[in-house]
Amino acid sequence: MGVAADNQLSERQYVRTITTGWRFTLPAQIRKARGWNEGEVLTAELAGDSLVLSEADGEPGELKCYLGSGGKIVIPAGIREALEWSLGERLAIKNEAHGVVLRACCRRDRCRSCGKLHNVSEVIDNLFLCAECWNRYVETVIMAKGHGA
Ligand SMILES: [Zn+2]
Repeated sequence: MGVAADNQLSERQYVRTITTGWRFTLPAQIRKARGWNEGEVLTAELAGDSLVLSEADGEPGELKCYLGSGGKIVIPAGIREALEWSLGERLAIKNEAHGVVLRACCRRDRCRSCGKLHNVSEVIDNLFLCAECWNRYVETVIMAKGHGA
C-alpha cells in the first residue's frame, strides 16, 4: 500500500502554462496532497534546470512566493530569469517528497541556432528560431538573392 502511494506521488506529472503576470496554477491535486491552502507561504529554490517549491521554514534569505486564490502562484523574477522561462512556457509539475518540482517541458521551443528561449517561434515547420537569428537569416537570404539577380 505504502509503495503504491509513493509511486503515485513521484510519477504523476501535470503540465501548466505560464500566463500573463508570470502566473501558473498549481494543480488542485498537488495542493490537496501537500495540504497547501490559499495564502500559504512557500520557498522557491533553484535546483539545476528546475524550480522547487516547498513549505517556507522562515530561514533568512529564502526566496518566497505565495499561493493565491485558485492555486495561482507568481514565479519570482530571479527564478524565471535564471531559468530563462518566458510567458507561454509549459511547465511539467511533479509532487516530490522534498517539494513540488517545476521544469520547463517542450524544450523544442529553443532557438535552433543560438539556444535562446526568448522570442522563439516556429518560422518554418519544425524549425524554431529566436527573432534575432531569424532576422539574421532573412538578411542573409535577401543578400544572397541580391547577388543572384
Ligand atoms: Zn537565436
